[in-house]
Amino acid sequence: MSSIIRKEGYGYAFNAAACASCGGKCCIGESGNIFVTTQEMQNISKLLDIDIAEFYKKYLIKKGYRFSLIEKIVGDSYDCIFFERESGGCAIYEARPKQCRTFPFWEYFKNNIEELKLECPGILDD
Ligand code: SF4
Ligand code: SF4
Repeated sequence: MSSIIRKEGYGYAFNAAACASCGGKCCIGESGNIFVTTQEMQNISKLLDIDIAEFYKKYLIKKGYRFSLIEKIVGDSYDCIFFERESGGCAIYEARPKQCRTFPFWEYFKNNIEELKLECPGILDD
C-alpha cells in the first residue's frame, strides 16, 4: 500500500513513511498548543488509567476557553508532554487528539505550504 496521502483541497501530498525517521518534528520544537476536547480528555485519561481531575492537574493548561496539553522544555525545544524522545513516539498514540491525527492536513497550511515543509519532511509537492 502506498504511504502517500492526498486530501482534496490541499495543494500538497504527505508521505507517511517519512515519520519513521523524522524524530517527531511535529511534536517538538517551537512552543504551541495541542487542543483537546472533553471527549479526548476522557479518552486519554482512560488510556492512562487516571481520572479526569488528575489528568487536568498533570497535563492540561487553560488557553482562553480551551484546554491544551502542556509542554516540557528539552534543551531549546518545547516538546509535547507525551512525546517520548527515546522511541520517537507518542505515549498516547491511540488516544491522541484530533489536532494530531489530522496533521499535516490543517486548514491553516493550505496557504502556508512553505512553512509546513520546514516543519514536516513528509510534505511533497502535488
Ligand atoms: S513532522 Fe511530518 S514526518 Fe515528522 S513525524 Fe510529524 S507528520 Fe511525520
Ligand atoms: S499528543 Fe502525541 S502526537 Fe500529539 S503532539 Fe503530543 S506526542 Fe505528538
